[in-house]
Amino acid sequence: MTTDDTAQGSQSKKNLSAQWSAVCGLLRAEIGEAAYQSWLKPMTVREIQAGEIKMTVPTRFMRDWIVAHYVDRLTELWAVENPDVKSIDIAIQSERDAAVAQPKKKPAGVEPAVDGAPSGKYSADISAPLDRRYTFEHFVVGKPNEFAYAAARRVADAARPPFNPLFLYGGVGLGKTHLMHAIAWHIRERTPKRTVIYLSAEKFMYRFIRALREQNTVDFKDQFRSVDVLMIDDVQFISGKDSTQEEFFHTFNSLVDQGRQIVISADKSPSDLEGMEERLISRLNCGLVADIHATTYELRLGILQSKAEQLAVKVPQKVLEFLAHKITANVRELEGGLNRVVAHAQLVGREISLEATQDVLHDLLRANDRRVTIEEIQKRVAAHFNIRVSDMHSARRARSVARPRQVAMYLAKQLTARSLPEIGRKFGGRDHTTVMHAVKKVDELREHDSSFAEDVELLRRMLEG
Ligand code: ADP
Ligand code: MG
Repeated sequence: MTTDDTAQGSQSKKNLSAQWSAVCGLLRAEIGEAAYQSWLKPMTVREIQAGEIKMTVPTRFMRDWIVAHYVDRLTELWAVENPDVKSIDIAIQSERDAAVAQPKKKPAGVEPAVDGAPSGKYSADISAPLDRRYTFEHFVVGKPNEFAYAAARRVADAARPPFNPLFLYGGVGLGKTHLMHAIAWHIRERTPKRTVIYLSAEKFMYRFIRALREQNTVDFKDQFRSVDVLMIDDVQFISGKDSTQEEFFHTFNSLVDQGRQIVISADKSPSDLEGMEERLISRLNCGLVADIHATTYELRLGILQSKAEQLAVKVPQKVLEFLAHKITANVRELEGGLNRVVAHAQLVGREISLEATQDVLHDLLRANDRRVTIEEIQKRVAAHFNIRVSDMHSARRARSVARPRQVAMYLAKQLTARSLPEIGRKFGGRDHTTVMHAVKKVDELREHDSSFAEDVELLRRMLEG
């Protein structure tokens, strides 16, 4: 390296820190002193590389938070100061040190602290990343989830555990993970000094097993010992895994004894978790158990309205109502449905309409109509054409029974999620090619015979209820 290069290097370094002070000063004015102290002050500028500013922060949580809330604005402000700047990369200090260190030595600062000294950094690093959209602000509250929501907020606001553990349970896609992330974001924002760990039970188990294999379970325990809030998602995954449960039980007890908050989620209530040890169940039952119920129409509509707003797109009210009416299984599917409709409209450059929605979501809507059974279809169709239900299964080939049978097969294909062989079996053990033929035949007839088409349409409407 020549002297010139060094001079240039230190010159640009000086420029960078001057730029950072300017950018920082501007953002500080925008976000206020408290946020500045918590988030901007701990950031360190390292270098600029191909238009990318490299910065470091002490913990993963800080990184996640800054990325979620400030990095876009920081980049904008910096680009005004220095037009070369295109992006900002934020790394975690200890990881950067580890990558840079020549002899492979543990950098100071990542050693787990001894004797009760704060070791927040170490702990924060084992937390899984948080989804930036999963905040309380983005959570729509309604009858089915108001209790769970209120409990989560209580935990997030409280300095001491108001109940321990908070046990959230409910079916898939109803907002358990969302609420847990919201608690974590909230605490990190209000009291960044507190250590919050969020982990799936699977991850917890995986880390524990790895610690066992590497024979450093002491380290493993240390990681959790200094945690202020420990959240374990989907604990049903550790049911039946005895040694993991054992470890979990001990970690759990020692944290509770120290007055640290624990938040757990599962798909069932503690007592319904099969393969869980009795003593663990009774521990889990000790705090507050809050369930999230299946969504109602009103909640689904509210969620759709909020998501549409977040996407900043105009979705006609009747489309939202239609979706809320049709996609009832869970919020994840509901959201997925809306996203697909919006993406499609943007792709083809057309307004969102009810027609387009029905088209785009054909398969999803059909899956949500699964309530209709083949037996019901057979009964309805038999009644409509005035034949016996047993003729649906019989071998008779007279057109007077064969045609209604084909209509029933056709509707079974349209209205249920059954496969062709499954449908065949329900019609007296017929082959799937027979079903395929029926579907084709009915399609043909519908095209050429409008009164037949009306019949089929009428039946379909009655069955869809
Ligand atoms: P779970 O963990 O219970 O399976 P998630 O928390 O992952 O469910 O939720 C699934 C999706 O639905 C997420 O995108 C989440 O943001 C969304 N969601 C669930 N409930 C709500 C709600 N009440 N308000 C807004 N979004 C919600
Ligand atoms: Mg979840």
